Amino acid sequence: MHAKAADRLLHHYSNHARVLPWRAPPGQARQEPYKVWLSEVMLQQTTVATVTPRFLRFLERWPTVDALAAASDEEILAEWAGLGYYARARNLISCARVIAERGGFPGSEAELRQLPGLGAYTAAAVAAIAFGADAVPIDTNVERVVARVFGLTDRAEVTEAARTWWPAGRAGDFAQACMDLGASICRPRQPLCQSCPLKDDCRAAKLGTAHAFPARKLKKARPHRFGLAWWIRQGDHVWLTRRPAQGLLGGMAALPGPEWGDERPSANPLAIHRHGFTHFTLDLMLVPRTEPTEEGWWQALKGLADAGLPTLYRRAIECALAAEREPRLAA
Ligand code: SF4
Repeated sequence: MHAKAADRLLHHYSNHARVLPWRAPPGQARQEPYKVWLSEVMLQQTTVATVTPRFLRFLERWPTVDALAAASDEEILAEWAGLGYYARARNLISCARVIAERGGFPGSEAELRQLPGLGAYTAAAVAAIAFGADAVPIDTNVERVVARVFGLTDRAEVTEAARTWWPAGRAGDFAQACMDLGASICRPRQPLCQSCPLKDDCRAAKLGTAHAFPARKLKKARPHRFGLAWWIRQGDHVWLTRRPAQGLLGGMAALPGPEWGDERPSANPLAIHRHGFTHFTLDLMLVPRTEPTEEGWWQALKGLADAGLPTLYRRAIECALAAEREPRLAA
């Protein structure tokens, strides 16, 4: 039954595959590993709609992994600005340099796994999609489809079932077929079972409880933190600095200020910007100062888009400028 279900899904994929700039059409020549790897890193925690234009810009600037490896950290981090999860960008830089140094991507899942920042999923995705290896990349879409088709709630069982289901020799296409099905038909809420090529094979659909698979994880409450950012403005310029290379937003352009903490500092802020990170929320208090106190540069306000600021600081600056215009709305 499951071999036939796999055939049905591949057939559906050959007619309905999403056209994406990092993809080769179904059944055709494999995609370059550089494009697969770059897209997979960008797509972690980020939507296809957001990634598509950013991927194309990256590729235009750095068409090969060697070109990316030769670029400076600052250029790459600035191009990454706004995509969030900046550890990905730093791993991307380290990984590109290792690959350039060794003369290209390794072709096996095990060797890919040794590269900086390549987790189990990305290594399996590059191995399957770019090298045609029989690897099984399980992202959230794939996990949901497999959990529902087999009626499983346990994660380890889902991984095991996926391994038995994956058709040998078509691992890349099958992974992308599952990803597309999970994104368009087997959606987290209100799956479109009547339009699904797997409706006659799917255990969850037969039970009428697709929404119950996979089992939901309980969300932990996010802790709350506080930070100070110095708002140093002279006319049409604002003083920016660069964050330390290690740690959250490492190496990114930023407003200056001390390390964040768990206690609310006593300060008289011009404005407070609240930002949600994956693991905590932050109240960033923007406090005016007259002179720079640490290394940095004067950034023209009209050139902020080119400063490579992550979303936190871009929004915080917007917040400070709005508060200056309308002090009543501040903090
Ligand atoms: S039949 Fe429904 S639950 Fe099963 S794979 Fe298709 S869309 Fe998902």
